[in-house]
Amino acid sequence: MKYLFNVFSRCYSYKPLQTFHFHANLPRNMIENSMFEEEPDVVDLAKDSTTFPALDPDEVTYEPRSSRLLVRGLGENDMDDDEEDCESSARLLGMSFMNRSSAHRSNSSPYTRQAPPRSCSRPSSRTIVVCVLFLVIVASMTMVLYFLPACTFTKAGCPKPNKTNPIEPVYPISTNGELFPWAQLRLPQSIKPLSYDLTLNPDLDKMTFTGRTVINMSILHSTNRIVFHGANLSITKATFMASDVTVLEYKPRQQLAVNFSEELKAGQYCVLTMEYSANFSNTYDGFYNSSYIDKDGNKRVLAATQFEPLSARKAFPCFDEPAFKATFLIKISRKKTYMTLSNMPKAKSTNLSNGLVQDEFEKTSVNMSTYLVAFIVANFTSITKNVSGTQVSVYSVPEKIGHTEYALTITSKLLEFYNNFFDINYPLKKLDLVAIPDFLAGAMENWGLITFRETTLLVGNESSLLEKQVVASVIAHELAHQWFGNLVTMRWWNDLWLNEGFATYMEYMSLQEVSPDLETVLRFRALDKDALSSSHAVSTDVNTTEQVEEMFDSVSYEKGASILLMLNASFPGDQQFRKGIIEYLKQFSGLNTDTDDLWNSLTQPTHHMNVSQMMTSWTSQKGFPLVTVNLMGNQVTLTQEHFLLTSDNTTHTSSLWNIPVTYVNDSCSLAPECRQVFTLKNKSDTFKLSKNVTWLKLNYKSTGFYIVDYGKDGWSALTEALSKNVSVLTHEDRASLIHNIFALSRLGRVTFRQVLNLQKYFSLETETSPVMEALLQLNNIYRQLEKRQESNLASRMKNFIRGTFRDLIANQTWDKEENVSKQELRSALLEMACSLNDENCTHQATSLFKKYKDSNGTIRIPGDLQQTVFTVAGQSDETWDTLFNMYVHATYDSEKRKMLKGLASTQNPQRLVQILSSGLRGSLIQTQELPLIISTMCQSFAGCLFAWDFIQENWDRLIEKFPIGSFAIQTIIKSVTSQSSTQAQLNKVQAFFSGLKERGSQMRSVQEALETIKLNRDWMDRNLPTLRRWL
Ligand SMILES: [Zn+2]
Repeated sequence: MKYLFNVFSRCYSYKPLQTFHFHANLPRNMIENSMFEEEPDVVDLAKDSTTFPALDPDEVTYEPRSSRLLVRGLGENDMDDDEEDCESSARLLGMSFMNRSSAHRSNSSPYTRQAPPRSCSRPSSRTIVVCVLFLVIVASMTMVLYFLPACTFTKAGCPKPNKTNPIEPVYPISTNGELFPWAQLRLPQSIKPLSYDLTLNPDLDKMTFTGRTVINMSILHSTNRIVFHGANLSITKATFMASDVTVLEYKPRQQLAVNFSEELKAGQYCVLTMEYSANFSNTYDGFYNSSYIDKDGNKRVLAATQFEPLSARKAFPCFDEPAFKATFLIKISRKKTYMTLSNMPKAKSTNLSNGLVQDEFEKTSVNMSTYLVAFIVANFTSITKNVSGTQVSVYSVPEKIGHTEYALTITSKLLEFYNNFFDINYPLKKLDLVAIPDFLAGAMENWGLITFRETTLLVGNESSLLEKQVVASVIAHELAHQWFGNLVTMRWWNDLWLNEGFATYMEYMSLQEVSPDLETVLRFRALDKDALSSSHAVSTDVNTTEQVEEMFDSVSYEKGASILLMLNASFPGDQQFRKGIIEYLKQFSGLNTDTDDLWNSLTQPTHHMNVSQMMTSWTSQKGFPLVTVNLMGNQVTLTQEHFLLTSDNTTHTSSLWNIPVTYVNDSCSLAPECRQVFTLKNKSDTFKLSKNVTWLKLNYKSTGFYIVDYGKDGWSALTEALSKNVSVLTHEDRASLIHNIFALSRLGRVTFRQVLNLQKYFSLETETSPVMEALLQLNNIYRQLEKRQESNLASRMKNFIRGTFRDLIANQTWDKEENVSKQELRSALLEMACSLNDENCTHQATSLFKKYKDSNGTIRIPGDLQQTVFTVAGQSDETWDTLFNMYVHATYDSEKRKMLKGLASTQNPQRLVQILSSGLRGSLIQTQELPLIISTMCQSFAGCLFAWDFIQENWDRLIEKFPIGSFAIQTIIKSVTSQSSTQAQLNKVQAFFSGLKERGSQMRSVQEALETIKLNRDWMDRNLPTLRRWL
């Protein structure tokens, strides 16, 4: 999956003081809820079971800690006062478990216990004293058992030394009142689905569908239950091997189950058939409906799917985890006016007696994870081309078919590139790329049927190369997934980075080969997020559905890509990495893997580097190193420590990384041959250069995932060298110096005075990436000052930024520009200049908008200037109305989004409210655009206030549309908080999110937001005096 806009690049946080522990400052009820309403135990056990694959997970033995499950269950139910007393006293004593009798639980409780040990359930007169007494007894018994030699803790007591009887897990109650036979998030491993026959009958008039699913499965371990997934499906009939069976449902985990009185024996094959009905989903996942207005003004409806990560279960009952791969045979009925698409080519169409047509697709020729299944019912049209035996087609709504040509051309080139690069041919006979009018993510890699937003697939011939670059990158990403993700799939979502890090990396690698004219540059931005203590390891535990959603973040995508880049750059020559990848794909073709499998494949016996050892240090721990370099003559000392931004100076970690440190020096600094490598594995290490040098630049071309501190003298030497000759380093190296010094200022490692020294150099800078880096950093300080309402300081900062880049801004033209890098630079500079009210800029933009309006759209604004022009138009009430009218009638999605950003940048309260509520309703503005609207509004003080009110008032509706933890919600939270820096703002944000409880307070992005505000606050406290003196 690919997301459209990267908010991470805009968000920075500054200077730490104290560590922030999320729970520490929260009210007591919040602490309790987060303790008892999460699902840690359930899932820890699930994870344990997968650690020992030989064990039948159905029969996993539960240690006494599983009784915490009961507490969790109780936490969600009404407790009488005494029970509550009992509970809290247990908590106070640090005993987080306590057994209760199910006899006292009502049938509506979602949790009961099969063989409940009796204890703390008492007449209502029982008090805390009894509970304490009970705990003392429990503690004494535990000690007695502990001191009995050779005695394990069993229900029967001591005489069975070798066999531990399982303590039954707490089973929840199904919707029909029966016990649901499974108590974990992950499904049992006893049954493996082999193939699915799906028949779907969508009714686009009623917005409902019926379905029939036949699952052929193999019993791996004897069991008397089948547990699988299903959500919002009403099962009307179920048969197992021709006998009717009852399907139980446990809604909180979206699980279904069938119980059997006799065991299904290992080695058996069996068939479960279900008929069901459901409504189309009205969010952006599952089998959902979408619509658009055609050129005659008629509303046209269609239905499409988005299953990653957890939504295949909303369209058909299935084993909805990536490791349960199977084949799929899909049949869909439709009206004659529609067409259907699925992963495979259509095999035949049959006229049904009810006047409909049933399309049947070929059975998948590959085993597939459920999240990759896809189908569409619509009236799209396509263009098509045969590429090395694969039929490649690009589909769109009929009106936009003229914008599909570029996608087909670049897909053909990329497909050939990947066939060759991976040395494995794309395995299906066809590959469809489809632009869907309502689509939340940027694109989704369904095997053989890749779905896109219109913006990421459709581009006109007259579009700028910058717009084509977006389309090409997204296609390159999704095509890479056809191998990395589809052919070889991560075993569980904890290793999502294997999919996303790789696909993100390949976007750049493939396009540099296939389409050098696009000048795609590496610009992964995960350092800033990963510097926070709320960050997570690339490969990390994932135990709840929200945590699955949260894995779709910049750590999985961009840090994943960065460490692959670093690894590739540390190999001698450019073929080793590729060879390892080919080996990995061939060895695990059609299977599931985890991170270790990749590193093992890349550790080849033919060369000495132990990839596994090196890379595990990057994937198993969060954060990244700060490398400090000390140069004395020809002797270099390198030291590493965790670059951790915290508000508490006492927080240190002992993390060490295996870092392939690259470096160049004053006598050879540009060509790849200049690069030398030293592997830093220890805390500190020293090596000698062949001769004395005046400076060293580490992390050549910024291919390593670390930040470098050169020390006071080192920074001065580099600044001086650059001030004399900017071209003494590559532009990537210059951009990384700018990034690093601002980051070090956040860490409190360099003074802001030192940062300003580097400004001597960057006012001479003209290359795109260093200029954009400097703009980003300075703009962020400006936005923070503005949001603190330090208006005087903010306007001085504004003058400073304009002054620094004055000449560069003055040199920008407003005509057509052919060079991508120049387009990028121009668009960043002018957008900034106009947003800082540079008069010449706003004047030019206004007149261009007028010409565009007067020409009725026949004069085109160059693609890279559109955003600047529309944003300026959004500032005046009169042109805002014109722009809104244009927006409503525009068909071309990429232009439309730029207009929307222009509209959302207004400062007029009435219009801000109008856009937000229209986006929420989905009328005129699609709901999928809300994250974009909010992130745009949050660039200004007034806009952000409205956005914040809106989020608070409409939180429940937002999480209905965008799942908790999802990328959209992460974006919204980040946008609205990342430029706050006052205690008052912190208090408000904290109060709101802690009040949400299970409706979002537990999200990592909330912790990240709170941490960021604190760090901003502390940086401002420290540096405001310097800013006042210096500006
Ligand atoms: Zn992806």
